[in-house]
Amino acid sequence: MQLKEAPLALGKASDYTDSTEIIRAKRKPTPVPDISATTEITRAKKKTEAQDIKLKKIGTSDFFVIKKRIHEKEESEFGKFDLHTHTKFSPCAVTEPETLVRKAKQAGLKGFAITDHNTIRAWPALTKLAKQYELIFIPGQEIDVTFEGRKIGHVLALFTYDKIVVTDILDVIDEIKSQSALLSVSHPFDFGRSFKGFDKLSVTGPISKYIPAVETFNSRVLKEEANIKAKDFAEKNGLFQTAGSDAHMPYEIGNGYLIARASTELELLREIKLGRVVANGKLSGLAPRLHTLGAYMHLIQDKNFR
Ligand SMILES: [Zn+2]
Ligand SMILES: [Zn+2]
Repeated sequence: MQLKEAPLALGKASDYTDSTEIIRAKRKPTPVPDISATTEITRAKKKTEAQDIKLKKIGTSDFFVIKKRIHEKEESEFGKFDLHTHTKFSPCAVTEPETLVRKAKQAGLKGFAITDHNTIRAWPALTKLAKQYELIFIPGQEIDVTFEGRKIGHVLALFTYDKIVVTDILDVIDEIKSQSALLSVSHPFDFGRSFKGFDKLSVTGPISKYIPAVETFNSRVLKEEANIKAKDFAEKNGLFQTAGSDAHMPYEIGNGYLIARASTELELLREIKLGRVVANGKLSGLAPRLHTLGAYMHLIQDKNFR
């Protein structure tokens, strides 16, 4: 590769020492090396060779060990967070709080959010268990929201500290804001479970005015396209992203998650708001949907999956 020549110096000479040196060097005819100069070159060459040997002695393998160590440190700072899970306190789920944390640990999660349907009954048990299992616990809820009295879908209230009892979407938005928490629309484009509030809310301005985040990966969507559409929607409208398994059965925990560099609940919220997160995971398929039906009918329990 040929290097570009430095531009000609203008202004104070002291500012352009390098450039002027180049010009000076160009003006000078190449000196014919006398014997003493050749000796100097040989000496310099020998010195460089000696340095090379010294470097080789440190060894490339050592270099890679050091590099690997740095890489591992970086990796350990990142973690997987499943931000959508249910326990037996949701009418369609069976997971005991103890099972949830155990499975979360097994799935290699760094933390999880509990988002039972319209209840926070699992919070006390999960607060203790998460501490015991060294998992970051994010208190949350999944709320059936309405607009002018009509059901329009589900939203997740994440990083909350109290139960949300209101259901009108505008009241829910205000309540979540007052708790300095995060609202994320669950499975916004899933077949049969889509959110019908985007058009209604964007009448008076951009949707981001009301909805700060959407779930861009949910493991229970019928088709992968629903998640792709959610991601496009988030990017187009400048919304934050969350992700989760939407686990109703123990074996689904950790199927969907957000990758983030966070060691506390607050750090995770900050990373989400900075957009430094990646939504990822796999779809859970049809089996858990059938099991959910069984849970509704009280036909199956947590112990069936141990
Ligand atoms: Zn839902
Ligand atoms: Zn859910």
